[in-house]
Amino acid sequence: MHRIAAHHESPCQACGACCSYSQNWPRFTTEDDAALDLIPEGFVNERLSGMRCDGDRCSALSGKVGEATSCLIYAVRPEVCRTCMPGDVECAMARKRHGLPVLPVVPADAGTHTA
Ligand code: SF4
Ligand code: SF4
Repeated sequence: MHRIAAHHESPCQACGACCSYSQNWPRFTTEDDAALDLIPEGFVNERLSGMRCDGDRCSALSGKVGEATSCLIYAVRPEVCRTCMPGDVECAMARKRHGLPVLPVVPADAGTHTA
């Protein structure tokens, strides 16, 4: 659910923790078929219910968590990846798991997530 933002100042680009937290997080929810068709099938899990993960890590996450990460399908990432924001509760959970300091809540227009 990375929200590694397109904005260079986004903390997500040096994080990626929420994209490597649980295989249940980057699931499909409100996407329509057209949106899902844009995600390369190699990144989709066998049940077609969400992103394919290697353990807890989304297969579309590139880079090293806590240092430099990006989402390989950023433009077409699932809705849950778009709604998770730096500083929210899920962000805090994920960052704690990876030993990263919890972030203050960032204003909604300051950048969207994704790895
Ligand atoms: S699809 Fe992209 S934003 Fe979503 S969990 Fe995977 S790497 Fe993160
Ligand atoms: S939303 Fe939080 S946990 Fe996810 S990549 Fe951004 S800073 Fe890291």
